[in-house]
Amino acid sequence: MTSAKRVLLAKPRGYCAGVDRAVVTVEKALELYGAPVYVRKQIVHNRHVVSELEKRGAIFVEETDEVPEGATVIFSAHGVAPVVHQEAAARNLRSIDATCPLVTKVHHEARRFAAADYDILLIGHEGHEEVIGTSGEAPDHVHLVDGPDDVANVTVRDESKVVWLSQTTLSVDETNATVDRLKTRFPLLESPPSDDICYATTNRQQAVKDIAARCELVLVVGSRNSSNSVRLVEVAKQAGANDARLVDFAHQIDEAWLEGVTTVGLTSGASVPEELVEQVLAFLAERGYGEVEEILSAQEKLAFSLPQELRRDLKAAAKA
Ligand code: SF4
Repeated sequence: MTSAKRVLLAKPRGYCAGVDRAVVTVEKALELYGAPVYVRKQIVHNRHVVSELEKRGAIFVEETDEVPEGATVIFSAHGVAPVVHQEAAARNLRSIDATCPLVTKVHHEARRFAAADYDILLIGHEGHEEVIGTSGEAPDHVHLVDGPDDVANVTVRDESKVVWLSQTTLSVDETNATVDRLKTRFPLLESPPSDDICYATTNRQQAVKDIAARCELVLVVGSRNSSNSVRLVEVAKQAGANDARLVDFAHQIDEAWLEGVTTVGLTSGASVPEELVEQVLAFLAERGYGEVEEILSAQEKLAFSLPQELRRDLKAAAKA
């Protein structure tokens, strides 16, 4: 048995394919069209990423009507309701949609089941941008179910025509619990054709589960408004870590958390650049946690191409 201080580093961690695509979309748009480029909502839920893009000329707004007529606007990875596209068109904006293709897939499902007149039980967190966007595809058919305890509040028109869908960044275990309760209430409940919780969320939760029981403390690098990052803290605790904490930056680590800790687990949310993890590793190394073991749970190779409207303009600029 070793008593040397060490770090177990979860893999996969950090950037997913959808976040990478969204951030590169803003970077390329700034290069191609020049600053400023407007971005509706945080492009991804990470403070560092947003402030770096701001320095390069991105202007983040809450709503489309804050964007000057005719300017370029990028929609965030979390997706938008159709009405937002209509608002942008009415203001004559050049819009680029950086919605993650895995969120778009859920939008398609919502439209398809709404067209067949299903009641859609959307499992997700009230007020989250992704949930607002998906609900906006079929507002008359979607009912939000915010966790297992919300199941009792659901009412549907026809119990033989009900389907559940979900936000992409939920806890896998909690969502299964919610679905089980829904199935008890609605035995004919149908499931989505494929998982809505995305591969990145699933893999990062599994990776933190694989290290949590061996750690007295798990540090998750991520922002408070990042759903998948907050879920990693919960999953780490449920999987046996004595303590788990969310930090945006290394300097937010309270040294008191490390008292009596031999093994620190470390991971990061899907919107977190690796440099922030490296800064936490440096912080820990300075405090004696120099031994780092990376624990691989899954290989990830997925990559998405840039939004087609941006690809088209990049191609035209390359020819000019
Ligand atoms: S967390 Fe999943 S759904 Fe969200 S941007 Fe990343 S890959 Fe897409």
